[in-house]
Amino acid sequence: MHFSAHKGNLVAGIIAGIVENEVVTALRTAIPRLGNPWNMKRVYLCSSGFGAGIVFWIELLSMQFIINTMRLFLFFVPAALLMVLFGTESTGVESYASRITAPSLKEKVSVLASDSLEGRETGKPGQHKAAAYIRSHFENIGLPGPANNDFFQSLNLYQSEQGEAYVKVDGKIFEHAGQVVYYGKADSKGEVTLPLVYAGLGRDEDFNTINVDGKAVLIRIEDGRIYNLPEVAKARQYGAKMVLVWNTDTESAFNILADQAREYVSRERPSLQKPKISAPNAGSFVVSPGLVETLTGIAPGKLKAISRQDPAGSPLSKLNPVTISYKTTMGIKTVETENVLGYLEGTTLKDEVIVISAHYDHIGVSASGNGDRINNGADDDASGTAAVMQLAGAFADAKRDGRGPRRSVLFIAFTGEEKGLLGSEYYADHPVFPMENTVINLNIDMIGRRDPQHEESKPYVYIIGTGEETSSLNKFSEYVNEKFCKLEFDYTYNEKEHPSRLFYRSDHWNFAKNGVPVIFYFDGIHGDYHKPSDEVDKIEFDLLARRSQCIFYTAWEAANRDKRIVLD
Ligand SMILES: [Zn+2]
Repeated sequence: MHFSAHKGNLVAGIIAGIVENEVVTALRTAIPRLGNPWNMKRVYLCSSGFGAGIVFWIELLSMQFIINTMRLFLFFVPAALLMVLFGTESTGVESYASRITAPSLKEKVSVLASDSLEGRETGKPGQHKAAAYIRSHFENIGLPGPANNDFFQSLNLYQSEQGEAYVKVDGKIFEHAGQVVYYGKADSKGEVTLPLVYAGLGRDEDFNTINVDGKAVLIRIEDGRIYNLPEVAKARQYGAKMVLVWNTDTESAFNILADQAREYVSRERPSLQKPKISAPNAGSFVVSPGLVETLTGIAPGKLKAISRQDPAGSPLSKLNPVTISYKTTMGIKTVETENVLGYLEGTTLKDEVIVISAHYDHIGVSASGNGDRINNGADDDASGTAAVMQLAGAFADAKRDGRGPRRSVLFIAFTGEEKGLLGSEYYADHPVFPMENTVINLNIDMIGRRDPQHEESKPYVYIIGTGEETSSLNKFSEYVNEKFCKLEFDYTYNEKEHPSRLFYRSDHWNFAKNGVPVIFYFDGIHGDYHKPSDEVDKIEFDLLARRSQCIFYTAWEAANRDKRIVLD
């Protein structure tokens, strides 16, 4: 064999005389893309049949043909492979999903759930540090910040803050949560001094025998009630300016109320609305039994007996009024915090937006307890936040490769979730992209662990918010699972009115209430929920990666399918 090509004839010796060029021309016309493969070499086959001399001229495919064929292969085979991998069916989604790995997730969860972030409580330094970390990730992967060209959507939360509250008698001050407990949200605008009268059991027949107009009133509540007292309302009707309530018989019983009052202040939740400050003299003071005697100069036993006498004899009017002072101040504390947003613009359907979200705040440091008091929130919800960051990275890679999604994708790390879904409520009230253009919200809250029901199960995730098995949303989610994820989808909590009410308990609710289809991904309630033991070393990172990839596939499909998902 030799490799030089020359035009030859396709001739069988026994059919000598056929003009080979005609054949070549015909073949060239028939198979134009083969170029000029008919550079042949002659092979003489001698048949040794009956007598020598019969010669077959067979022009076989020349080496040039083989080279050309190989060239074609070199072009078509990779092209065919690319079509399989990146064709209309999947456009390379697996290669991007595979970049969401257990180590990359672990790196992010470890930062977010480190002790230095002190449990990421909304408004605290650890929360702001987490926000900065997420922002720098979005920045590094090349996503723009869509909130007025910023990654932060800043919001203020408000918390009423009780200042001073005291009752003063004979120059001695009795503070709130000491021997008095103030129930109310009023600012008295300075110290108020008034005569104090005893109104017994606070009935009409009591008020009819004394004048309480413009005065402070002490009322005895015999059965220990404390909230929404009609006796207090009645005193106000008769013109009392301030009401003191005496409803306990022992100091220890009163101290329980004082303890609760201290707790209440420290646990009060912030809100998006400024709390209302009541009229200057609103509210009431509950006083300890010991203070009753200090205030009135009369032993509690004697006062009780007087309150039980027949009001017709006007026993209350025989007591001398004393003078007391009181003061209440009320401030409003502003808590500054921020949602963190990264945006990936779509191609042909860019006005439609997929929102992938997780909350990055947690519950901070426990006020009491032995040992570790930092609630790291590795599962709740550093796991979901890390997933959002990694999904953003995978989408950004795809876009850089010219394979970005048709619809836009908005990545949101929400603040204030643990305070009552406040970051997502704010977003829903101030959406960066209109809610009606928001195609779906995939919300992730706790996806790094197993609950006791799934200790031995194959990889699973709870799916919440997809509605009936036959709904378009559920079918879509199932289709993605079957095609890509192969996870066990657990629908235990999917029913909206399931007693756990999980449908209402994470940020997706603020999208669902606006008619946006939502899928909430969740791993279940485990023993470390909202405890300092929700630590990084308890996360199953392989499982976290599987679930994160599944959410990526779901987002990818939602972003690229022809028709947007609708609720039915
Ligand atoms: Zn959570």
